[in-house]
Amino acid sequence: MKIGAYVHIPFCLARCYYCSFTSYAVGASAEQDIYQKQIEPYLNALIKEVGIYKDLLKGKNIQLKSLYIGGGTPTCLSGGQLFILLDTLRTNYTYSEGIEITVEGNPGTIGPEKLAVLKEQGCNRLSLGVQSFNPKELRVLGRIHSLPDVYNTYKIARTMGFANINLDLMYGLPGQDLNDWKKNLRQIVDLQPEHISLYQLNIEEGTPFYHLYQRGLMEKFDQDQAFYMYEEAINYLTEQGYHHYEISNFARPGKESRHNKLYWQDEYYLGLGAGASGYLDNMRYTNMSSLKQYQELVNRGERPLEQQEKIGPSLAMAETMFLGLRLLEGVDKRKFQQHFQVNIKDQYGEIIENLKSQGLLRETETHLHLTRRGLYIANEVFMEFL
Ligand code: SF4
Repeated sequence: MKIGAYVHIPFCLARCYYCSFTSYAVGASAEQDIYQKQIEPYLNALIKEVGIYKDLLKGKNIQLKSLYIGGGTPTCLSGGQLFILLDTLRTNYTYSEGIEITVEGNPGTIGPEKLAVLKEQGCNRLSLGVQSFNPKELRVLGRIHSLPDVYNTYKIARTMGFANINLDLMYGLPGQDLNDWKKNLRQIVDLQPEHISLYQLNIEEGTPFYHLYQRGLMEKFDQDQAFYMYEEAINYLTEQGYHHYEISNFARPGKESRHNKLYWQDEYYLGLGAGASGYLDNMRYTNMSSLKQYQELVNRGERPLEQQEKIGPSLAMAETMFLGLRLLEGVDKRKFQQHFQVNIKDQYGEIIENLKSQGLLRETETHLHLTRRGLYIANEVFMEFL
């Protein structure tokens, strides 16, 4: 069986003001030094966890068809640490031919030395967290990188032969208007990346932005304006030859993220590292997000699980709907029937008709798709299937 693997590196040089991911700042100040010292023991534990899953999967003829090293900021590891991590994964697991290996990087933490390590270890896809081409917007977000970092890193990566690069871009930022956004879109297309991922800024609990919001010092972004920005992105990127294949993702033909498609097509993947999630043998699981608890369990030879849940038939059907609808190709009604031995209309007929009448869902002879409005408020649509 071919599956994916996600590896989480929960460290960043500094925390962005909007971030709610599992990540610890390892910047240079004395109080952050405590975290800097945690990278090495964390990496040792991660290597042990790779071994735990190697034993668990023994005899099951499992091959990895995609590997995604995300974070956090994987590129805040040193070149040597990146080498050890990728080498450990390669020597412990069987890679299928043509495996997609993606490493996320922050343009402020990656140069020729680390890129050379990634290349040597088989990384064939880079994902760079650009977020904005406007220096003022980068500062507002608390990003540690500058605009020259973006251009330098991108140029070096291209020179070194990286032929599949994703760039992340955010919209709905404080003070951003439609013209600012159009300018960002033009600048990202000028670089000609193979893949573009868009994210709308959300004010998440526990973040510095949330504290500002609670104190009345920051407003939520106007949702109509954010929708126009989303529409503008779809129209412009499509015109520029990008295939809009998932709610927030655009790719040159054939360059869709194979790893992310595996999530949306409900396939199995290992989740390794603190706070990582995985899906194996009909069980979804999430690892401990606390570094201490994660390391204690792994060092005792145990899976570092915070929670796991068996995915029974009714939840599996719901997941097929809301993961499949993320993709523009939508949910194949015939495949649903073949897989679950249930007609999709018998299971969800009322919900489907209701969503169609609200203009959020569209039905063809073979598929169900979200409309553009449905794509924009997809999370609300998905709740209907739970
Ligand atoms: S780089 Fe990414 S993971 Fe790290 S703090 Fe910023 S948003 Fe969070």
